[in-house]
Amino acid sequence: MRRWSQVAERIAATTRTSEKSRVLAEYLRDVEPDALRDAVIFFTGRAFAESDARSAGLGWATIANAVARVAGVDRAQLAAAYDRHSDLGLAVGDVLAARDGAVAPPRDPSGPPESPPSVPEVTAAFAAIEAAPGPAAKSAAFEALLRRCDPRSATYIVKILAGELRIGLRDGLLQAAIARAFGRSTGDVANAAMLTGDIGETAVLAREDQLGAASLRLFRPLRFMLASPAEDAAEIMARLGPVVWTEDKYDGIRVQLHRRGAEARLFSRDLHDVSGQFPEVVSSAAQLDWDGILDGELLAYRDGVVLPFLALQRRLGRKEPSAGLRNEVPVAYVAFDVLALGPRGGDVEPLLGRPLSERRARLEALGLAAAEPVRFALSRLVRVRSADELEEVFTAARERRNEGLMVKDPTSIYAPGRRGFGWLKMKKALATLDCVVVGVELGHGKRHGVLSDYTFAVRDDATGALVTIGKAYSGLTDAEIAERTRWFEEHTLARHGRYRSVEPSVVVEVAFDVIMRSGRHRSGFTLRFPRIARLRLDKTAVDCDTLATVEVLWRELQHGAEHLVTRGARPGSPSEP
Ligand code: AMP
Repeated sequence: MRRWSQVAERIAATTRTSEKSRVLAEYLRDVEPDALRDAVIFFTGRAFAESDARSAGLGWATIANAVARVAGVDRAQLAAAYDRHSDLGLAVGDVLAARDGAVAPPRDPSGPPESPPSVPEVTAAFAAIEAAPGPAAKSAAFEALLRRCDPRSATYIVKILAGELRIGLRDGLLQAAIARAFGRSTGDVANAAMLTGDIGETAVLAREDQLGAASLRLFRPLRFMLASPAEDAAEIMARLGPVVWTEDKYDGIRVQLHRRGAEARLFSRDLHDVSGQFPEVVSSAAQLDWDGILDGELLAYRDGVVLPFLALQRRLGRKEPSAGLRNEVPVAYVAFDVLALGPRGGDVEPLLGRPLSERRARLEALGLAAAEPVRFALSRLVRVRSADELEEVFTAARERRNEGLMVKDPTSIYAPGRRGFGWLKMKKALATLDCVVVGVELGHGKRHGVLSDYTFAVRDDATGALVTIGKAYSGLTDAEIAERTRWFEEHTLARHGRYRSVEPSVVVEVAFDVIMRSGRHRSGFTLRFPRIARLRLDKTAVDCDTLATVEVLWRELQHGAEHLVTRGARPGSPSEP
């Protein structure tokens, strides 16, 4: 892990992608064969492969307590280090380096020095932490790992556990480095990564010249294709035209449905198995007569009417819902894509690389809506040829009480995990940003005993850091605020009077009127009249909006404001010739 951490540091230190790729390729070529898979997974910033639903499950508080014990400091010293860096990993490295400087050489006199852990040993330790039965056992397993680490390795282990690697290594760059290390084509590496959903396994296949053998597996979830925000109909047509496909943007939760033989399973956006929460969808899906994978939105749906998201929320996180709750909030699955398909019991063909037009034809041919009881539907598709038509369809979708439209390029392939321009989301009217809560404070008046004032941030794409953009009183329900208060108390990183910095993992959808440039927040922007519209428990910090999106929205809103000014009469302006 020592060498891995040095390489990670060298990659972080340069902004030149060619240099990042060179350093990484050199390392991957030389790394011990049994470490390649795990080393590559760690470079994605994860403890386990993306398609592996496990997570070490170590909260920041547990990490901080263990670090404090190993370094022999108190939580306040660690909190001070955190404030210097705004990064838990760097804070940990700091306090451990200070300890080592103070007690040189850094050895435990009571026994022989322990050997530093190798990459596979770190993976084994992560697995042991994940499997440990409770917080105390998890903490003990983590502490044992930490005691074997030099400060730099500890820094990177904590960064991985906290999901905050941030060394400026995007998936594309990692794939390019794998291709370079083993003399393969980047396209072949990307294709294998897409099918396996496991970049570590892909690296091993690349080394063994077996990329052609990569295949998609049922019941191993694929990453979801994402959409970029877009507001302006003319711009959308210019980008995706002459013909675009629009679908209603349903307000439910994204779910990938896998089925083979008599088995069906559902996976959420974060690739967790949520089958237990929706047993009626699982049992209906088990009766379908094909094998494959669908992408779609799960909605609360009764008597032909989509119920508000609030209704669906009552079913989220509840395993084995009671018959009463299932009756009160029935659910349906609206499919909008098919990612793999085959006859029941036969071979499944991946369709990711086929154009949307072909995937949709295959989806329609499944006759889903005919399944009984009515549990499945197809997304409403309208083909549009002009900006005016797009505006009309958008308004109609809003009138049907959808969030807006998804605009899709019929020629686009399904790109797992990508936020490209193949799919655009058009929400307009109500501008919202998905932000991560980084700090909380006790409220006032009716909210005096609860942590109801949130400071939130977006991600700076250039550095990967979270940068604050605003602060708002929570618009959540009392029950939600109470539940979040308990969570924030358990996940407080440091206190500064009334303000607590908290583990940045809660995503909230923030509505606002205007974005303005301002030095008040680290992002360089501030929001006018920010309101917390809702909690996005289905999203994690990696899904939050970026500074680039804020800039685009800001520019568009500026543009809109100029229109308002120039459209009105401007006294004193010269008359047109
Ligand atoms: P957002 O959550 O605002 O980033 O918007 C993207 C989400 O819209 C997707 O992840 C889906 O959950 C949801 N969505 C709703 N309807 C559709 C649709 N017809 N096609 C694709 N995504 C949809």
